[in-house]
Amino acid sequence: MRREGPAALGERLRNLWRAALDLVWPRQCQACGETRFCVRFAFLCDPCFVSATRLEPPWCERCGLPFAGLAGEGHECPNCRGAKLQFERARSAVRFRGVVRRALHGLKYEKEHFWAPAIEAWFLEGVARHLAGEQIHVVVPVPLHPARERQRGFNQAALLARALARQYRLPFEPRALERVRATKTQTHLDRAERQENLRCAFRVRRPAVVANRRVLLVDDVLTTGSTLSECAAVLRAAGATPALVLTLARG
Ligand SMILES: [Zn+2]
Ligand SMILES: [Zn+2]
Repeated sequence: MRREGPAALGERLRNLWRAALDLVWPRQCQACGETRFCVRFAFLCDPCFVSATRLEPPWCERCGLPFAGLAGEGHECPNCRGAKLQFERARSAVRFRGVVRRALHGLKYEKEHFWAPAIEAWFLEGVARHLAGEQIHVVVPVPLHPARERQRGFNQAALLARALARQYRLPFEPRALERVRATKTQTHLDRAERQENLRCAFRVRRPAVVANRRVLLVDDVLTTGSTLSECAAVLRAAGATPALVLTLARG
């Protein structure tokens, strides 16, 4: 019989305790409102967790956007063909909709920190396959402007990046990049406007930790890729290789 380490035993005891608590005081799922017996997360039921739309190939070789139909190796979507994105490739775990949108919105704007474990789990489970065979030296999150981070209390990209770095035992550098200009929200801007909005928004704060290294950039949502491309460009200018971009969700 396989012997269990103290961590595995602790996990089993915690699950048992949670199950016992559920019998007397069942918890309500914050996504669907149902009160169910749930093992994995305190405030999200298992059906809601698995309802997140995972991204599956075929997808754009550059930005990871799924598309219908067949395409050969090296296929790029129309957005990437004209965009000159500065990172080698980007991949995301899930679609930015439904329960994922609800959870991310709650975490960022409603101080609902109970979403964090599910958000990390979607991310880690979804991006695992993209790290196979990839050589990465350091993990760097897309920074928030300091004023925004103070107001929010945390940077959601850094939460994801830290979880990933821990899981894969990679160096984590949350302060390698900094946002030196508060930028407007990008939601209603077209690509040219986004590029103008982002000009000189980022700076490499710690060149020594990224120079001559293959960098993994992490953010919560990728929409057009312009923010991540701007980060990749300043990393490249500092002598780094912006190899891989991983995000929780794809807009
Ligand atoms: Zn639910
Ligand atoms: Zn693309």
